[in-house]
Amino acid sequence: MNKENKSSYPILGMIFALILSVGITFFNSNNVFSKTKTPIEGYKVYLKGDAIGLIKSDKELYDYINKMQDQLMKKYNVNNVYIPNDIKVEKDITYESNISTVANIYNIINEKSPFTIKGYKVVIDETNSTSYDNETNQDAETIPETDKITTINVLDKDIFKEAEKKVILSFVSEQDFNDYSNDIRKTLIDTGEVIENLYVDAKITLIDAYLPVNEKIYTTEEELTEYLLFGEKQNMSSYTVKGGDTLESVAEANKMNVNEVLIANANLRGSSALLYEGQNITVGVLNPIFQTVKEIHKVEDQEIAYKTEYEYDNTQYVGYQSTKQHGSNGINRVTQKIKEVNGEIMTALISNQQEIRPVVNEIIVKGGRQPHIISAGNWGWPTNIPYIISSHYGWRWGRLHSGVDISGTGYGSPIYAAKAGTVTEINYTGSLGNYVEIYHGDNYYSRYLHMVTLSPYVHVGDHVTMGQTIGDMGCSGNCYGTHLHFEIWQGKPYGGGQSMNPLLFY
Ligand SMILES: [Zn+2]
Repeated sequence: MNKENKSSYPILGMIFALILSVGITFFNSNNVFSKTKTPIEGYKVYLKGDAIGLIKSDKELYDYINKMQDQLMKKYNVNNVYIPNDIKVEKDITYESNISTVANIYNIINEKSPFTIKGYKVVIDETNSTSYDNETNQDAETIPETDKITTINVLDKDIFKEAEKKVILSFVSEQDFNDYSNDIRKTLIDTGEVIENLYVDAKITLIDAYLPVNEKIYTTEEELTEYLLFGEKQNMSSYTVKGGDTLESVAEANKMNVNEVLIANANLRGSSALLYEGQNITVGVLNPIFQTVKEIHKVEDQEIAYKTEYEYDNTQYVGYQSTKQHGSNGINRVTQKIKEVNGEIMTALISNQQEIRPVVNEIIVKGGRQPHIISAGNWGWPTNIPYIISSHYGWRWGRLHSGVDISGTGYGSPIYAAKAGTVTEINYTGSLGNYVEIYHGDNYYSRYLHMVTLSPYVHVGDHVTMGQTIGDMGCSGNCYGTHLHFEIWQGKPYGGGQSMNPLLFY
């Protein structure tokens, strides 16, 4: 009703107000037959212009807010807790049944317009990251853009800087980190490795902000480091060391590899670190919030194992054997460019190789004409040499990497059958890419993944000999850098078989 009406017809206005009041009582009361309520003096609380409730005493609310501010100041160890500046309290007439507790009002305020403290919002943007994920994780293409941006609240810039450094130090030694930070580049004499590039593959922005206290605010670098390494907390737990445990057994029991256990437990790194009974170890699936990229230039001497060749001398009886030439291993000096993401090799390429000492094969002369029988243990290497093992068989990122990744020999380089056998599958899938599967007898299978194309060399049912070319190294399927993913299985792969570590066969 407007003022004019009120002044012109005061009695009518009063009656009208009374009806209205009765109406309010009626609707607000749960029990229609409740006792008559007497109006009392109270205070109406507004937030951003909206009424959020009625309280008996404004002082009680102010005291409560002060108490909460004190608690928050203590919790975060800060001098100021900011309350929303659009809270208004006005005297009003109300009824006992409509009164809210101040705690209730505080909860409503905190939900709609929380108290804040000064700090920083850290925005980690991986939208343009080129190393977002790796082979065993999801396909990068299928991850929505929004998932590539993470926002974290931190109380202090230094907390983030220190945690970021700790994450980087999970993948690189302190010495290397300091050298790189201080622009000290060592020159390689003969062999060794130099870090050419070390960076976090994300755009990280720190913004001054008023942080809402009802959101997670990181106040210690330890807690933030854990978050940056493991992502959401449920990925992480604690393991208590038992008698007889080794780093290897703890890793295996928790579906991790040893390197991952060391990443998660900085205190275990270093030569003096020993496990003791009752020790608590952080375990879980690593899922770093950002990717740490290390590009290295590496020169190493690789030993080339000599092979044994047999010559047959028909002038000699079967059973005769003599060594015509003693074998000796060769040495190749191999220059490599390696890009590691979160401690895993993502791409590797041999840029140069130099023979330091030639390999000399052993030659044995046998009597009589005998076929060369390959024993169960005699497997040929499936790529050219030299090569780089870019990922070993075993647990990584919480999944079993069921083969060995071989790279360095370049895109399109040949892939050889590791042993004589019959081709059982030639196929393409979105994750495996173009692959070949061979059955070798004695229940052994081998698989060769990520080839350039479906094999133009062999067909299903073909018999292949050891060392026969069966494909070209590529990066088809779910792959982040040219390599051969090579598997050996006892039993049919994914058909009741068991994958084995291929390196045990060589
Ligand atoms: Zn692989």
